[in-house]
Amino acid sequence: MNKTKPVDGKYNLVNLPYGPTALEPVISAETLKFHHGKHLQTYLNNVNAALHGSGLENMPLEEMVTKATGALRNNAGQLLNHNMYFMQFAPPQADNVPSDQLLALIETHFGSFEKFKQEFVKAGAALFGSGWVWLAADADGKLLITQEPNAGNPLQHGLRPLLTMDVWEHAYYLDYQNRRPDYLSALWQIIDWDIVEARYNS
Ligand code: MN
Repeated sequence: MNKTKPVDGKYNLVNLPYGPTALEPVISAETLKFHHGKHLQTYLNNVNAALHGSGLENMPLEEMVTKATGALRNNAGQLLNHNMYFMQFAPPQADNVPSDQLLALIETHFGSFEKFKQEFVKAGAALFGSGWVWLAADADGKLLITQEPNAGNPLQHGLRPLLTMDVWEHAYYLDYQNRRPDYLSALWQIIDWDIVEARYNS
Protein backbone atom coordinates (compact mmCIF):
# COMPACT_ATOMS: atom_id res chain seq x y z
CA MET A 1 0.00 0.00 0.00
CA ASN A 2 1.00 3.66 -0.35
CA LYS A 3 3.21 4.99 2.43
CA THR A 4 2.44 8.23 4.25
CA LYS A 5 5.43 10.24 5.47
CA PRO A 6 5.71 13.60 7.19
CA VAL A 7 6.71 16.64 5.14
CA ASP A 8 9.41 18.80 6.76
CA GLY A 9 9.07 16.82 9.96
CA LYS A 10 5.30 17.14 10.32
CA TYR A 11 2.01 15.83 9.03
CA ASN A 12 -0.61 18.11 7.52
CA LEU A 13 -4.38 17.81 7.53
CA VAL A 14 -5.60 15.93 4.43
CA ASN A 15 -7.51 18.06 1.95
CA LEU A 16 -10.91 16.52 1.37
CA PRO A 17 -11.66 15.70 -2.29
CA TYR A 18 -15.27 16.96 -1.86
CA GLY A 19 -17.02 20.06 -0.53
CA PRO A 20 -18.39 20.53 2.99
CA THR A 21 -22.00 19.66 2.05
CA ALA A 22 -21.16 17.04 -0.62
CA LEU A 23 -21.84 14.02 1.61
CA GLU A 24 -25.21 15.24 2.91
CA PRO A 25 -27.55 13.86 4.09
CA VAL A 26 -25.37 10.84 4.96
CA ILE A 27 -22.74 12.97 6.75
CA SER A 28 -23.72 16.56 7.50
CA ALA A 29 -21.48 19.57 6.97
CA GLU A 30 -21.52 20.08 10.74
CA THR A 31 -20.25 16.55 11.45
CA LEU A 32 -17.61 16.91 8.75
CA LYS A 33 -16.48 20.24 10.19
CA PHE A 34 -15.97 18.81 13.67
CA HIS A 35 -14.73 15.37 12.66
CA HIS A 36 -12.20 16.50 10.05
CA GLY A 37 -11.46 19.98 11.37
CA LYS A 38 -11.33 19.28 15.11
CA HIS A 39 -11.02 15.57 15.96
CA LEU A 40 -8.60 14.66 13.17
CA GLN A 41 -6.67 17.90 13.68
CA THR A 42 -6.14 16.97 17.33
CA TYR A 43 -4.84 13.47 16.53
CA LEU A 44 -2.54 15.05 13.95
CA ASN A 45 -1.24 17.63 16.41
CA ASN A 46 -0.59 14.84 18.92
CA VAL A 47 1.36 12.81 16.33
CA ASN A 48 3.44 15.84 15.34
CA ALA A 49 4.21 16.61 19.00
CA ALA A 50 5.12 12.99 19.81
CA LEU A 51 7.16 12.58 16.62
CA HIS A 52 9.59 15.32 17.55
CA GLY A 53 12.67 13.68 19.08
CA SER A 54 11.18 10.17 18.94
CA GLY A 55 13.72 8.85 16.44
CA LEU A 56 10.81 7.71 14.26
CA GLU A 57 10.58 10.93 12.23
CA ASN A 58 11.11 9.13 8.91
CA MET A 59 8.98 6.08 9.56
CA PRO A 60 5.82 5.98 7.43
CA LEU A 61 2.54 6.00 9.34
CA GLU A 62 1.76 2.53 7.96
CA GLU A 63 4.82 1.16 9.80
CA MET A 64 4.47 3.36 12.83
CA VAL A 65 1.11 1.84 13.72
CA THR A 66 2.78 -1.58 13.99
CA LYS A 67 6.09 -0.51 15.58
CA ALA A 68 5.45 2.51 17.81
CA THR A 69 4.06 2.17 21.32
CA GLY A 70 1.91 4.24 23.64
CA ALA A 71 0.56 7.64 22.62
CA LEU A 72 2.44 7.72 19.32
CA ARG A 73 0.97 4.36 18.26
CA ASN A 74 -2.55 5.43 19.19
CA ASN A 75 -2.41 8.86 17.61
CA ALA A 76 -0.65 7.56 14.47
CA GLY A 77 -3.38 4.93 14.21
CA GLN A 78 -6.09 7.56 14.48
CA LEU A 79 -4.34 9.73 11.88
CA LEU A 80 -3.97 6.87 9.39
CA ASN A 81 -7.48 5.53 10.02
CA HIS A 82 -9.12 8.94 9.57
CA ASN A 83 -7.13 9.66 6.42
CA MET A 84 -8.35 6.36 4.95
CA TYR A 85 -11.92 7.03 6.13
CA PHE A 86 -12.21 10.55 4.70
CA MET A 87 -10.48 9.73 1.39
CA GLN A 88 -12.84 6.84 0.55
CA PHE A 89 -16.03 8.95 0.22
CA ALA A 90 -17.90 10.54 -2.69
CA PRO A 91 -21.33 12.22 -3.00
CA PRO A 92 -24.26 9.86 -2.24
CA GLN A 93 -25.57 7.45 -4.87
CA ALA A 94 -28.64 5.35 -4.16
CA ASP A 95 -27.46 2.31 -6.11
CA ASN A 96 -23.77 2.38 -5.22
CA VAL A 97 -22.03 -0.90 -6.02
CA PRO A 98 -18.38 -1.91 -6.50
CA SER A 99 -17.01 -2.39 -9.98
CA ASP A 100 -16.92 -5.90 -11.46
CA GLN A 101 -13.56 -7.06 -10.04
CA LEU A 102 -14.29 -6.13 -6.44
CA LEU A 103 -17.94 -7.16 -6.66
CA ALA A 104 -16.89 -10.64 -7.81
CA LEU A 105 -14.39 -10.91 -4.94
CA ILE A 106 -17.00 -9.83 -2.40
CA GLU A 107 -19.48 -12.36 -3.79
CA THR A 108 -16.84 -15.09 -3.59
CA HIS A 109 -15.95 -14.35 0.03
CA PHE A 110 -19.30 -13.30 1.48
CA GLY A 111 -21.93 -14.94 -0.76
CA SER A 112 -23.44 -11.69 -2.05
CA PHE A 113 -22.95 -7.92 -1.83
CA GLU A 114 -26.07 -7.68 0.36
CA LYS A 115 -24.75 -10.32 2.77
CA PHE A 116 -21.39 -8.55 2.93
CA LYS A 117 -23.04 -5.24 3.82
CA GLN A 118 -25.20 -6.90 6.48
CA GLU A 119 -22.21 -8.67 8.02
CA PHE A 120 -20.15 -5.47 7.99
CA VAL A 121 -22.87 -3.38 9.64
CA LYS A 122 -23.43 -6.12 12.21
CA ALA A 123 -19.71 -6.16 13.05
CA GLY A 124 -19.68 -2.36 13.40
CA ALA A 125 -22.82 -2.29 15.52
CA ALA A 126 -21.52 -5.07 17.79
CA LEU A 127 -18.11 -3.47 18.41
CA PHE A 128 -18.23 -2.50 22.08
CA GLY A 129 -17.13 1.07 22.79
CA SER A 130 -15.00 3.03 20.32
CA GLY A 131 -13.19 1.65 17.32
CA TRP A 132 -13.24 0.86 13.62
CA VAL A 133 -14.76 -1.85 11.45
CA TRP A 134 -12.71 -2.82 8.40
CA LEU A 135 -12.72 -4.69 5.16
CA ALA A 136 -9.21 -6.12 4.85
CA ALA A 137 -7.30 -8.53 2.64
CA ASP A 138 -4.82 -11.20 3.71
CA ALA A 139 -1.60 -12.12 1.88
CA ASP A 140 -3.55 -14.44 -0.45
CA GLY A 141 -6.05 -11.71 -1.36
CA LYS A 142 -8.83 -13.25 0.72
CA LEU A 143 -11.27 -10.63 2.01
CA LEU A 144 -12.32 -10.42 5.63
CA ILE A 145 -14.14 -8.10 8.02
CA THR A 146 -12.30 -7.12 11.20
CA GLN A 147 -13.35 -5.22 14.31
CA GLU A 148 -10.60 -3.05 15.76
CA PRO A 149 -10.99 -1.35 19.14
CA ASN A 150 -9.79 2.23 19.74
CA ALA A 151 -7.16 3.18 17.10
CA GLY A 152 -6.70 -0.35 15.72
CA ASN A 153 -5.82 -1.07 12.10
CA PRO A 154 -5.67 -4.42 10.24
CA LEU A 155 -1.97 -3.72 9.50
CA GLN A 156 -1.37 -4.74 13.12
CA HIS A 157 -2.46 -8.29 12.18
CA GLY A 158 -0.51 -8.44 8.93
CA LEU A 159 -3.61 -7.60 6.86
CA ARG A 160 -4.10 -4.91 4.22
CA PRO A 161 -6.78 -2.32 5.10
CA LEU A 162 -9.22 -1.58 2.25
CA LEU A 163 -12.34 0.12 3.62
CA THR A 164 -13.24 1.42 7.04
CA MET A 165 -16.12 2.81 9.06
CA ASP A 166 -15.39 4.88 12.16
CA VAL A 167 -17.65 3.82 15.02
CA TRP A 168 -16.41 6.34 17.58
CA GLU A 169 -19.47 8.32 18.66
CA HIS A 170 -17.98 11.57 17.36
CA ALA A 171 -18.34 10.16 13.82
CA TYR A 172 -22.13 9.98 13.97
CA TYR A 173 -23.61 11.48 17.12
CA LEU A 174 -24.61 14.88 15.67
CA ASP A 175 -26.46 13.21 12.77
CA TYR A 176 -27.67 9.88 14.17
CA GLN A 177 -27.39 10.24 17.98
CA ASN A 178 -27.34 6.68 19.39
CA ARG A 179 -28.37 5.00 16.10
CA ARG A 180 -25.00 3.56 15.08
CA PRO A 181 -26.51 0.88 12.77
CA ASP A 182 -28.39 3.61 10.82
CA TYR A 183 -25.17 5.56 10.36
CA LEU A 184 -23.30 2.45 9.18
CA SER A 185 -26.08 1.46 6.77
CA ALA A 186 -26.21 4.98 5.30
CA LEU A 187 -22.46 5.07 4.63
CA TRP A 188 -22.79 2.58 1.74
CA GLN A 189 -24.23 5.43 -0.35
CA ILE A 190 -21.00 7.42 -0.15
CA ILE A 191 -18.31 4.75 -0.51
CA ASP A 192 -16.07 5.46 -3.49
CA TRP A 193 -15.50 1.87 -4.56
CA ASP A 194 -12.81 2.89 -7.07
CA ILE A 195 -10.67 3.95 -4.10
CA VAL A 196 -11.32 0.66 -2.32
CA GLU A 197 -10.44 -1.30 -5.46
CA ALA A 198 -7.27 0.74 -5.93
CA ARG A 199 -6.27 -0.12 -2.35
CA TYR A 200 -6.85 -3.78 -3.10
CA ASN A 201 -4.70 -3.64 -6.23
CA SER A 202 -1.92 -1.47 -4.80
MN1 MN B 1 -13.25 9.68 14.11
